[in-house]
Parts: sequence; structure tokens; C-alpha cells
Amino acid sequence: MSFDLLKTARRNIGIRLALWYAFVFALSSIALLMVAYYLLAADVGRKDREVLEARLQEYAAVYNTGGLPALRSAMQHETGDPKAFFVRLVNPWNEAAIINIPADWIAFRDIPGRLAGDRRRVGFIRIPKDAEKDFLIASMILPDNSLLQVGRSTDSRAALLLPLRQDFIVFGSATILLGFLAGAFFAHRAMRPIRQVVATARSIIQTGRLDARVPVRKSNDELDEMVRLFNNLLDKNQALIRAMRESLDNVAHDLRTPLTRLRGTAELALQPQTAPDAVQEALADCVEESERVLNMLNTLLDITEAEAGMMKLQREPVDLCGMVREVVELYEYVADERKVAVRTELPAVCETPVDRNRMRQVFANLLDNALKYTPENGRVTISVSEEPAWAVVQFRDTGIGIPPAEQGKIWTRLYRGDKSRSERGLGLGLSLVKAVVEMHQGKITVVSAAGQGSEFTVRLPKPG
Ligand code: ADP
Repeated sequence: MSFDLLKTARRNIGIRLALWYAFVFALSSIALLMVAYYLLAADVGRKDREVLEARLQEYAAVYNTGGLPALRSAMQHETGDPKAFFVRLVNPWNEAAIINIPADWIAFRDIPGRLAGDRRRVGFIRIPKDAEKDFLIASMILPDNSLLQVGRSTDSRAALLLPLRQDFIVFGSATILLGFLAGAFFAHRAMRPIRQVVATARSIIQTGRLDARVPVRKSNDELDEMVRLFNNLLDKNQALIRAMRESLDNVAHDLRTPLTRLRGTAELALQPQTAPDAVQEALADCVEESERVLNMLNTLLDITEAEAGMMKLQREPVDLCGMVREVVELYEYVADERKVAVRTELPAVCETPVDRNRMRQVFANLLDNALKYTPENGRVTISVSEEPAWAVVQFRDTGIGIPPAEQGKIWTRLYRGDKSRSERGLGLGLSLVKAVVEMHQGKITVVSAAGQGSEFTVRLPKPG
């Protein structure tokens, strides 16, 4: 159970972050408290030494000017309790000339009498007395080689600092606990967007509903950016899946019509009483319908291949003007039938490397559309020109045009404009055109106004 809890804690970034916070917080607090403790301890010690040194210097000055009697009298005239100070003057023959031992020093008579040291420096020794007090003695060698010592009982540094140490432990533990709690709180808050992303992803996986989104905060930080990108990703996926479903629906729908017709015709031909001529005709219809279905499936496969960049192109230098003439010739009959005039504006030659068959397919589709969507007595103009980096082929018609709302959708597979339903078509032509042009590293654009006509422009990169 507790092992499980430990495992959960290890896997929980929030807890791990909080522990790190607490650890760093604890380390810095301990470092801070230790520095404060040692500075304080040093300060207390310095103060004690300063007091003693001042007294030592004062007595030394008195002795140096007035000798032993002057020092004795100075000690007697001392304000406060002179007994509170330990004073000893040891002459060069190691005899104590003056000695004043406070009552509580009696047990520590054997205080070192002569210390090595130079004349100018004041030396200190500290003798621990009991748990609460220490003796601190300052010594100095006087010009006549006597040793002057002044001592005082001071608070033991350990005793003075003990409560402080206890306070530090209490305060330090509280700080660490606070650090952990604050760390846990902030980590929990900071991790909220990540938890929401996980919850959203889990709900999408479990329910299959793609419309779940992570709520966006307005903090504009990296996590907010991540949430926004995650939502964008979901939007894109949802749109893609919707488009795939629609495509599939459309393909199913568009296949059903010719296949139903095919079956009807075949059934009719199979009737025993059908005349041989009618059977012949029905079979011809069947072939035509299957041709349509096959055509549609092939075009769909071509588009997929081109969009995935898998289409194999056999590029060779082709004169686009010659190719336009070929295609116009191919559609001459259709144009005549629809009573639409086809004009070309071509330079002598415009050579660029393309896949001949694929580009012919592109031009044929664009001319086919221009003728299909241009009413009687309209006009279609195909022009070829050059820009510094591009060979440009334009298909202009005076047809029904494309409303602005539809212009972005016409490149989508199986999309057919509202006004185009009366014309034959699968809604695949422009998708294939775009995919093939882009496979050639070219661009295709449309400018159109409803009721006035359309202009499709294909730009193909020139060699070099
Ligand atoms: P379709 O088989 O419907 O022609 P396309 O992919 O070739 O499919 O074209 C998609 C849609 O773009 C058409 O249904 C039509 O609404 C619109 N369109 C294409 N070319 C023209 C044009 N020259 N004039 C007006 N509308 C056009």
C-alpha cells in the first residue's frame, strides 16, 4: 500500500517538483541560518574580548606610568564590583605581584601564569567553567617583562546560543514544511493545464467524441501555448476526419448511381424476351458505366498519389503552346456543340520541363471546366506568357463564375459547386489539377466573380 503510494508519488510530477522545492528551500534556509548563527556567535565573542581588552589596556597604562601602587589604587577605586574581574600581575621572576580572584574563580586557581606571545599583542584564553559560564582571560606582557592578566566570567557561548539553535531548528522545520506546502501548491497550479490536456485526451480516447477541448487560460505562457497548439491539433484532426467521412460518403454516393444503373441495364439485358439488338445496346451501356466508375476510382487514386508526392513524373522539355493547341483541337467539337468560342493568345514557343501526359490532363480539365460552366455564346481564352521564373498558362472564361464563398472549396475532392450540379462531373477535376501542378513545384490560382467569369492561372517553374 505505502509502496504503491511511493510509486504514485514518484510518477506524480507535482509531488516531485514540490519535494525539489522543499529540498532547495531547506538547503538555502539551513545555509542562511548557519551563517546568521556563526556571525552572531562571532559577534558575542568579539564584544566580550573588547571589554576585557579595554580593561587590560587601562591597567597596563596605569602600571607603566605609576607602577604597582598606582595599579593597586586604580583597582580599589574601580566603580562597580572590582572583584568581578580577575586581575593578576606576574613579575619577570614568575611571582604573582598582584592577584585578585573573584569568588567563583577560586576553584580555577591554576590559570596558566605565563603565556608565550609578543609584547604588543593581547592574547586570550577561554576556560569553560560550567554549562552556562566560561572564563575569558586577556594577557599582555608589559615593557618590564611582567605579565598582566585580566579575566572575567562571561556567558558560555554554547549556553547563549543554545536557545537560538533551538529556535533555528523549530523555525527551520516550519520553513521546510512551508516550502513543501507552497511548492506543492504552486506545482499543482502550474500542472493544471497538463492535467487538463491529459483529461481531454483521455475523454476523446474513451468516448470517441472529437469536440472536447482544453480550456485556455489567458496567461500567454508556454503552457498556454501548448494548450492552444493542442486544441489546434484537435481542430485540424476533427476537420480532417470530417472531410474524410464526407469524402467517403460522397464516393459511396457517387459510385452507387452508376452501379445501380449498371445493374439495371444488365438485368434488362438478361431478360429472356430482350431482343439481341437491345442486349447489345445494354452491354455497351454497361461498358460505358463501368468506364465512368473506373475513371472515378483512377482519378481518386491519382489525386491521393500526387498529394502524397508519390506520383511518378516523366519530365521532359515540352512546348506549352503546342500542348495548348493540341488540347484546344481535342475540345473543338465540344466547344462547337456548346456554342462557345475558344481563342488562344500564344507566343511562338514556351518550353518548360513537365510530364507531358499529366500536363495535358491539367489543361484538358481546365478547358473542360471553362466550356462546361460557360453558357452559349460565351468565350474562353487561353493564353501562354512568361514571367522571370515562371511559364504562365491562363484559362479565362465569360461563364457563371464562382462565388467567393466557394472559391476556397473548389480544390477539395468531390466538391461540386451549387450551380454546377446540372453539369456532368465528379468534383475531382480541380483536385487532380492542383495536385499535379504542385507535384511540378508549380502554383495554381483562381480569380472569379459570380456571373462574370473565371480566370484560372497555372504557373510552372522555368528551368534554371
Ligand atoms: P466538376 O466535376 O464539378 O467540374 P471540378 O473539381 O472540376 O469538379 O470543379 C469543382 C467545382 O468548381 C465545380 O463543381 C464548379 O462549381 C467550380 N468550377 C470549376 N471550374 C469552373 C469554371 N471555369 N467556372 C465556374 N465554376 C467552376
